[in-house]
Amino acid sequence: MIAFDLRCGEHHIFEAWFKDREAYEDQREKGLISCPVCGSTEVEKILSPVAIKKSSSTSATVPAAGAGDGAEVQEGFLKAMEKIYNTVLENSEDVGTRFASEALKIHYGAAEARSIRGVTTDEEEKMLQEEGVQFTKIPVPAKMVKKEEIN
Ligand SMILES: [Zn+2]
Repeated sequence: MIAFDLRCGEHHIFEAWFKDREAYEDQREKGLISCPVCGSTEVEKILSPVAIKKSSSTSATVPAAGAGDGAEVQEGFLKAMEKIYNTVLENSEDVGTRFASEALKIHYGAAEARSIRGVTTDEEEKMLQEEGVQFTKIPVPAKMVKKEEIN
């Protein structure tokens, strides 16, 4: 399985899993991939988002973008990412490293349903996927990542 970060025509960003790159291309051509926010099937892979993963024991997510996609990022895209990031910050509770357990509690109704954000390890992500928990990796604008590293 391979995870791709995708973006729809309305600039919603979401993650989807595929058997391999061919499966992604195939499903995209047939319009089988739709945006979870607006349902648009006009999706494309985005180049270099970084998930919020501040725990030092975890390596940063390296997106599975194809080689040679180019490093240029359009300003509009950066702005869109920043907007998403800020919206998430404003509207969610920071649960930090408890993200996986909180997400599970919410999933099984053991905790109040609400928006949370935090960090997970690769193992926790895998576990959440297997439990069927819906969560999204948040793209962090590059300049904001730098700011966090300084702090
Ligand atoms: Zn959308």
